[in-house]
Amino acid sequence: MSPPSRQRLLKPAEIEAFFAILAERIDPKPELAWETPFDLLIAVVLSAQCTDRNVNRVTARLRPRYPRPEDYLALGEERLQEEIRSIGLYRNKARSILGLCRELRDRYHGEVPQTREELEALPGVGRKTANVVLNVAFGQPTLAVDTHVFRVANRTGLVRATNPLETERQLLTKVPQGVMLHAHHYLILHGRYTCKARKPDCAVCPVASLCTWPSKTSV
Ligand code: SF4
Repeated sequence: MSPPSRQRLLKPAEIEAFFAILAERIDPKPELAWETPFDLLIAVVLSAQCTDRNVNRVTARLRPRYPRPEDYLALGEERLQEEIRSIGLYRNKARSILGLCRELRDRYHGEVPQTREELEALPGVGRKTANVVLNVAFGQPTLAVDTHVFRVANRTGLVRATNPLETERQLLTKVPQGVMLHAHHYLILHGRYTCKARKPDCAVCPVASLCTWPSKTSV
C-alpha cells in the first residue's frame, strides 16, 4: 500500500513531531521474548506468519532446554518439528533452524554474527530477520520493515514506496537519527494497536493531526 499520488508526504519537521509523539507514548520493547542473541534469532525465524504470543509460548519451552546450536542439532529434524508443531510453516522453519545452527556451530563458534552480510548468509535469515537481530540484540540503528511498518509508513505519508526494501531505504533517510534505534518498534506497535490494517483507530490516534492519509476518520 503506497500512498495515493495526491497524498501529501510529511515534511521533516512533521516527521520529527510524529516520532516525538510516538516516543512519548510507546515503550519500544520487542514483544518477542528472548534472553540471548541466539534465542532471539530462533524466535524471529519462528515468528514469520505467526503471532508473537504463539512464538513466545513455544520459545518459553525451548529456551531452557536448547540454549545452544549444538542442542538443536542433537535434537534432529523430526523431534524439532514436534517441538514447534503449533507454529505455522513448522517443517520449513525446523529445517532453517537446523541449517543455521550448523552454520553457527561450524563458522562462528556457536555465536550469532553481528554483521548483516553474515546474518543474511544463514539459512532462513532474510533482510527483515537480520535487521531485527542487529537492532534488538546488538543495538544497531537498523529498521526492519514488516507488514505493520510498511502499512503505517506508507499510509501516514512518512514515505511513498511500493515494497518493504524501498520503504526501509526511504525511512532511513527520513527518520530523525535520535529516534532511529527505536523507530521500528514505534511504527510496529502503533500499527499493531492503533493504525490497524482493516480498521485504524483514527479517533484516538495521537498522530492524527500529522497523518495525511486521505481516508483517516478523524481531524
Ligand atoms: S490517523 Fe488513522 S490512518 Fe493516520 S496514523 Fe492515525 S490511525 Fe493511522
